[in-house]
Amino acid sequence: MAESADPMENDAPGLLAKVGAVARMAKLFWKFTFDKPKDTRPQGRIPVDRMTRAELLAAPDRSLWKLGHSSVLMKLQGEFFLTDPVFAKRASPIWFAGPKRFHPAPISIKELPPIKAVVLSHDHYDHLDKRAIQKLAKKTEWFIAPTGVGGHLQRWGVDAAKIRELEWWQETSIGGVRLASTPTQHFSGRSLWNRNQTGWCSWVILDGDFRVFYGADSGYFDGFRKIGEAYGPFDVTLMENGAYNTRWAAIHMQPEETVQAHLDVRGKWMVPVHQGTFDLAMHPWTEPMERVQALAARFNIDVCTPRFGELVRMDAMQRGTCWWRSLPDGQRATAVADRVAVQER
Ligand SMILES: [Zn+2]
Ligand SMILES: [Zn+2]
Repeated sequence: MAESADPMENDAPGLLAKVGAVARMAKLFWKFTFDKPKDTRPQGRIPVDRMTRAELLAAPDRSLWKLGHSSVLMKLQGEFFLTDPVFAKRASPIWFAGPKRFHPAPISIKELPPIKAVVLSHDHYDHLDKRAIQKLAKKTEWFIAPTGVGGHLQRWGVDAAKIRELEWWQETSIGGVRLASTPTQHFSGRSLWNRNQTGWCSWVILDGDFRVFYGADSGYFDGFRKIGEAYGPFDVTLMENGAYNTRWAAIHMQPEETVQAHLDVRGKWMVPVHQGTFDLAMHPWTEPMERVQALAARFNIDVCTPRFGELVRMDAMQRGTCWWRSLPDGQRATAVADRVAVQER
């Protein structure tokens, strides 16, 4: 289903518009680099549960671990599936600059057991980490990606025979697990010169009648409702919650929209992702979690906020602790009340 998924493309019809866009970008870059509020990064150490291979191998099926940002490890049918693995110190093309991670990964790539499939959503640096892919190539059986992303993987040395590229609404089976590529409203590119040359998507992951939705990066759009109609209800959703800003509302969701999208796809439990690892916006680093917690309480939504590295039983979900509140700056009050416009289904 080819929906208009690129809000950025219609944005520059002529040269003047292009110049304007560059000027806006420069202003934003300046604000982002030199005028950042202090509270976009944590003070103190984020708690991380160290993981071991033995723990992973002994864990029951339908376990989940947040490794950081949108990197989530799942155990399904005795095999390991890993979304958007980022282990780099910075979500950036250069080693000495760009957003530096707040916490170490709870496990090294070396310590990870063999991975059945790495599941990629798009090629942005906070989702696609070249060195991680190169290290994972040896221990990973399959790389599942949107169309075009496989080109990056092949250039980095991944065997083409291991790569499966999918268009929106296409499905593939990996062992007994079904994966379907589903739409997002986002964009792609790893430099100023290669914008939108590769695809972007979310993923439906089906383990028999157990249904997981990984929402990846997206602005709020009608696609969530369609995904819910086609594949819902979902036992667990991994929803983007963080790196939002009204300036780029078309490509990342405000927490109210995250909650709405979870309701649209007909999710039961939500595990918010895309926060707590990288400073990619201007909001306080705890704000996405606090806003989503407040909304969850108000709309009676089950939200699970595990620590990084904490084992989560997807078939016996618990709320998890609000771990960020134990940090020195984790207690700050966050205004949420008057921004709510969630339609319950
Ligand atoms: Zn992105
Ligand atoms: Zn992202």
